Amino acid sequence: MKIEKVETELYHVPLAKPVVDAIHGVQREFSLIVVKITTDDGATGMGYTYSVGKVGGTSIATLVKDNLVPLLIGEDPRRIEHLWNKMWWALHYVGRSGIAVFGLSAVDTALWDLKARLADEPLWRFLGGHDNKAEAYGGGIDFDMTIPQLLDQTQGFLDAGIRAIKIKIGRDSIAEECERIAAIREFLGPDKKLMVDVNMKWSVEKALRAVRAFEKYDLHWIEEPTIPDDIEGNRRIEMEGPIPVATGENLHSIYEFKEMISRGGVSFPDADISNLGGITALMKVAHIAEAYNRNLTTHGIQEMHVSCLAAIPNASLLEIHAFRIDDFLIHQLEIKDGYAYASDRPGHGVEIDWEKISCHRVAFSDECVLAPTY
Ligand SMILES: [Mg+2]
Repeated sequence: MKIEKVETELYHVPLAKPVVDAIHGVQREFSLIVVKITTDDGATGMGYTYSVGKVGGTSIATLVKDNLVPLLIGEDPRRIEHLWNKMWWALHYVGRSGIAVFGLSAVDTALWDLKARLADEPLWRFLGGHDNKAEAYGGGIDFDMTIPQLLDQTQGFLDAGIRAIKIKIGRDSIAEECERIAAIREFLGPDKKLMVDVNMKWSVEKALRAVRAFEKYDLHWIEEPTIPDDIEGNRRIEMEGPIPVATGENLHSIYEFKEMISRGGVSFPDADISNLGGITALMKVAHIAEAYNRNLTTHGIQEMHVSCLAAIPNASLLEIHAFRIDDFLIHQLEIKDGYAYASDRPGHGVEIDWEKISCHRVAFSDECVLAPTY
C-alpha cells in the first residue's frame, strides 16, 4: 500500500459571532488547513489544523504542499512513526515548533484516520479504547461580555448538556474579575466545575495575588495564568497558590510538555493535536502525564479530541471551543448529561460537508496576509 495523492486545502471560516480574549483581541474568523491522503488502492484519511484569524494559514498550507507532500508520496501510510520522524527531521532546522508542527499535525491526523479506517475501527478504540466518552466543558471566549451576557452564555451551555464552564479573564482589576467569577459560581451552585483562562496575560506575582483572591470560588483550574515559556513561574503559581494550573495550548512538542509536567508547572496538561504534532504526539503527552499522575485536557477541535480523551485512562475535561466547524459537519458531536461521545464510525468519524464549506475555500499560493499587532 502506497500513498498516491495528498491534497492540501485552505479555508477562511467565519465565526458565528466575534469572540474576545485578553491577549488576541477580537477574532472574527479562523484559518482551516485540510489535508486529504489517498492510497493507490483507494484508502483515504483526512486531517486538519487551524490558526487564529488569517495569520499563518497560507504559510502552513504552503509548507504542507511544498515540503511535506513530497516526503509522503510512495510511502506506506501505516508506518506513522516512520513518516512522523521523516517529516520532523526534514523540518527540524527551520521547525520544531510553530508553522512546521502545525503542518505536521494535519498530516499526522490524516494518517491516523486512514489507518483506523483500514482497521474498520473507531479512533477512540483504535488508540486505546478506555471509554467512549469524555466529560465536556464550555469554553467561553467572552472577555468582553457583561455579567448578564456571561450568565446567558452559561445557561446556553447548560441547555446543551454541558455541566462545566470556563470564562476568560485577565483584566488589570482583580476585584472586577472576582465580581464576574462570583456571579457565575452563584448561578452554577457549588457542585459544577468552574474554570478561568488568563490567556498568558499576567505576571507570576499578579497571578499569585489573583488565585489567592479566587480561592473562595472553588475553581477547578486557572488556565495559562502566565507565559508557557516561564516554567519556574508556572511552578510557583502551582505550588504557592491554592488553584491548580492548566496550560499547554501554546506548548508545541512532547519535549516542552515533558519539561512543564516534570518540573511541576501544571496539574492539567492541555494538549491540542492541531499544534503539537498530531495524534502521535498527543498520545505520547498523555502517557507522560499518566506517569506523573496528571489528567490530560484538550484545547479546541472537540470533534477530534473526544476520540483521543476517550482512548486514555487519564482523561480530564474536553473543551467545547467557540472556534468550531459545526456548521459544516455532517454529524454533530453528541453531548448528553455532561459528557461528549466519541464517534463509532471508522477513523475519527469527522465528516465535513465539502460542498457547504467550499464557498470559504481560498487559493493560498499567491495570497499575502499581514499579521495584526496586539
Ligand atoms: Mg485557553
